[in-house]
Amino acid sequence: MSRLFEEFQQYLKKMNQYNHVCTLLYWDMKTCTPRLGQEGHVEALTHFSSEHFAMSTAPELGRMLDELAGLAESDQLSDTWKFIVRRMKRDFDRDKRIPPQLYRTFVQAQAEAGNAWVEARKASDFSMFAPHLQKMIDLTREMTGYTDPEKEVYDALLDQYEEGMDSAAIDGLFEELKKELIPFVKEILGKQKPENEAFTQYFDPDAQKRAQDLLLDYIGFRREAGSTGESEHPFTLNFSSKDVRLTNHYFENDPLSAIFSAIHEGGHAIFEQNVNPEYDNTVAGSCCYMGLHESQSRFYENILGRNKNFWIPIYEKLGEILPPFREISPDDFYREINHVKNSLIRVNADEVTYCFHIILRYEIEKAIFRDRLPVDELPALWNRKMQEYLQIAPRDDAEGILQDMHWSDGYFGYFPSYLLGSIYDGMFLDAMKEELGDVDELLREGKIREITGWLNEKIHRYGSTRRPKEAVMAVCKKEISAGPLIRYFKEKYTQIYGL
Ligand code: ZN
Repeated sequence: MSRLFEEFQQYLKKMNQYNHVCTLLYWDMKTCTPRLGQEGHVEALTHFSSEHFAMSTAPELGRMLDELAGLAESDQLSDTWKFIVRRMKRDFDRDKRIPPQLYRTFVQAQAEAGNAWVEARKASDFSMFAPHLQKMIDLTREMTGYTDPEKEVYDALLDQYEEGMDSAAIDGLFEELKKELIPFVKEILGKQKPENEAFTQYFDPDAQKRAQDLLLDYIGFRREAGSTGESEHPFTLNFSSKDVRLTNHYFENDPLSAIFSAIHEGGHAIFEQNVNPEYDNTVAGSCCYMGLHESQSRFYENILGRNKNFWIPIYEKLGEILPPFREISPDDFYREINHVKNSLIRVNADEVTYCFHIILRYEIEKAIFRDRLPVDELPALWNRKMQEYLQIAPRDDAEGILQDMHWSDGYFGYFPSYLLGSIYDGMFLDAMKEELGDVDELLREGKIREITGWLNEKIHRYGSTRRPKEAVMAVCKKEISAGPLIRYFKEKYTQIYGL
């Protein structure tokens, strides 16, 4: 066993080196590569990612996994290695069915679509992106035919991002949210106050960066294992629990965008930094369930960051870094960060109407993969659904269908995980209150690290070893339901808006 195990570890190490280079190239492309340099990076990324793919589908790996699976069955491996072997064997059996040429084509198309999306968004012209989008849809469909031949395409895609969830389960949760939240938002909008113009004045982008540093340090992002950069769209990536990176985008006249992106990405990063380091560089590390990941970023961003008490210990410091905040009272600040309004851009939406932005994308993805709706009809469908759920329509493609990068990356089935994350958060908050007591009080007293510690202990350290349903059951002792999130919204906003 020991020779086989050693051989397997060496093999994993080499695979991981390819993955490491791919991650580095991706980081560079998204944060600092000049436009003309993108092509060279795309070529290198295609090469290294294909090498990694070849290793992950090589017969040699298959042979090792078969032998190790035997050991796992006869209980000769630790629980962690049992998980790693079973997971890798499942992925191996799935990936080896993908023709290598199709994989290369997919990676190449993905990089090209990413660049086309950036240009199309700048020009606000969906027609520049449409052929790339069609190609990504076709290739995704073709890939899924190989990886999950027994599953319906869209269910297979959902399962790739949030294992164990399918459209039947998601339909149930989202329909309940629609039923409860559509009338509730109408009630809130009836009490609307005029816009507060203090938040659209000039906020120095460099100072916004320093505000990000303050917030990241406050919530527990560890600098010795993390760094930051700038990109078109904020994201977090990680090499291992020891090197986790996040990006932000600073807008001169909208400080709240960067502030809440910092807290959001900080939540993702804290998750990754606190996975059991023994899982580093294996499939047990880095949480691969997007909904569960979003539950942590959104817990920090919304449940904590949009709570009045979160700001009490640091609001003065925020004003020192960004002086316009000195002129804004904590009450006005609290009201603004929980300002419910029908808006066009998902990432700037308040936590309540955010649900509709996701439900809209989920329904469009079902139209793409179930009803085979042609891409040139998507902008019109987008606008119709915006009208239906949010009573507004985008003036152009940039503030409509081109606003998100996900589809250019081929991440179909990813969007629902954002809302699943919030649904889990409603449940996690209930469990946290039961175990830690008054969360408002902890925040008011600046004891947010106790909250971070609880999340580390209950969720983060497990990495990928527990699927979302299992994680929710272990933490909350309940099946997944939208009830707690709806209750959280109703209690909070009834108070803020005096309903
Ligand atoms: Zn996120």
